[in-house]
Amino acid sequence: MRYQSTRNKNLTASGPEAILRGIAPDGGLYMIPDFGEIKLDWKSLLELDTIPMAAKILQALLPDFTLEEMQELAQKAYCGKFETDELTPLAEVGDRYVLELFRGPTSAFKDVALSMLPQLMTASRKKAGQEQDIVILTATSGDTGKAALEGFHDVEGIKIMVFYPNNGVSAVQKAQMVTQQGSNVKVAAINGNFDDAQTGVKNTFAAALGDPAYCLSSANSINIGRLAPQVVYYFKAYADLLKKGKIQLGDEVTYVVPTGNFGDILAGYFAKKLGLPVKKFICASNQNKVLTDFLHEGLYDRKRPFYKTTSPSMDILVSSNLERLLFMMSDCDSELVASLMKDLNEKGSYQVPEEMLKKIQAEFAAGFCDDEQTAQAIAKVWKEHGYLMDTHTAVAWAVSEDYEGEEPLVVLSTASPFKFPHAVLSALGETPCEDEFESLNQLSALSGLPIPKNLAGLKSAKVLHTDVIEKDSLVNYALELAKKQIW
Ligand SMILES: *Cc1c(COP(=O)(O)O)cnc(C)c1O
Repeated sequence: MRYQSTRNKNLTASGPEAILRGIAPDGGLYMIPDFGEIKLDWKSLLELDTIPMAAKILQALLPDFTLEEMQELAQKAYCGKFETDELTPLAEVGDRYVLELFRGPTSAFKDVALSMLPQLMTASRKKAGQEQDIVILTATSGDTGKAALEGFHDVEGIKIMVFYPNNGVSAVQKAQMVTQQGSNVKVAAINGNFDDAQTGVKNTFAAALGDPAYCLSSANSINIGRLAPQVVYYFKAYADLLKKGKIQLGDEVTYVVPTGNFGDILAGYFAKKLGLPVKKFICASNQNKVLTDFLHEGLYDRKRPFYKTTSPSMDILVSSNLERLLFMMSDCDSELVASLMKDLNEKGSYQVPEEMLKKIQAEFAAGFCDDEQTAQAIAKVWKEHGYLMDTHTAVAWAVSEDYEGEEPLVVLSTASPFKFPHAVLSALGETPCEDEFESLNQLSALSGLPIPKNLAGLKSAKVLHTDVIEKDSLVNYALELAKKQIW
């Protein structure tokens, strides 16, 4: 199977090449042109444990690897790294199900993909016979950064650089990143927001293109190797519903996904393309509701105010992976996708054709909520069900309330409440200690839940990364470091 650029069908790559490059040479994203080509008996997947299930799905999406190879990579990626061997447990909360994606090494859903990506990348490097070290560039709105650092630190043949918005992440998230150890890691704050960081990283790729001095790749969800592992938990949740006797084989399920860059929810759509019976995907946004507007009207318009919300990992105005959806929903019309992306770059907006919008709306619904509704959802679910949600999960929960009667509803939970203790405590009517680290103890005492191990020792950990750069100097900073290869 050849992956192809969303913007030019003649730019193709094998799976390993697509993973190594991260982004296609024309700025497009690598995509599977035809899911019909993939042979996968999805029903037989449902009987497997999570790690073998992951290996099978990943092998189907990346057929340059044998099943044996993929099994070994999945073992290495996941075995013993998560709180539970099932990786992503499903909790029953009232008449909903919460798919807990945050039981990994950094308490964020991104661990699911970023535990696997380094394995895929080193294996791809071997397959492609590449000798030069790879430099991973990552823009983060908070969670990706730490999860990527955790996945890639001290991985041979790879170096990693992470950029985060200086005032756009929580104190805990910041501490997680700036205390990262490892001989191959670099972390810098930028004076700007997440979109500035992401744009800087994209511009760095563009500037390095075709220059043999650089071998850059991405750990953001523009990398297909990052997206593919996320397909697994949609099957896993379905298998759990079956096992608990909540559904019959073939019943359709609705997934509510707290969305930013559209990677998580798109992986769900991949699962559907592989056979999983899904009724609807509900795209939940916070006050930065560019996706809600798009899914309702077909107009994607990033020219709007940017809000800093209590769910910062979803504070995004340019959702990269939407480009892949446009490709799928236009029957792989790369010329159309290229022209829409050109509009986005030049005018700050694009409008999709009516027919395409209808196709998208048949699969995706959307809603949003503000910080106050987010807080209310946290308080309500705690009071009524004794279940503690983080702010991102709460956005999805609040949006799911508009879909009463559409059960079974699976709400994806993307972070531990301990990653956002201030907002969660305030939502519960408490006055949080000013020091966010103290507030971890406060939240633990109040909820009776233990602080995840990876967060407990953070306060006393040594700060190792202090660089702060202007958003316009990101490209030079990254290129210089990547060229010198001194870390
Ligand atoms: C990244 C992230 C999201 C958004 O996921 P996308 O794949 O970017 O849509 C939601 N919640 C949390 C906690 C995240 O870290």
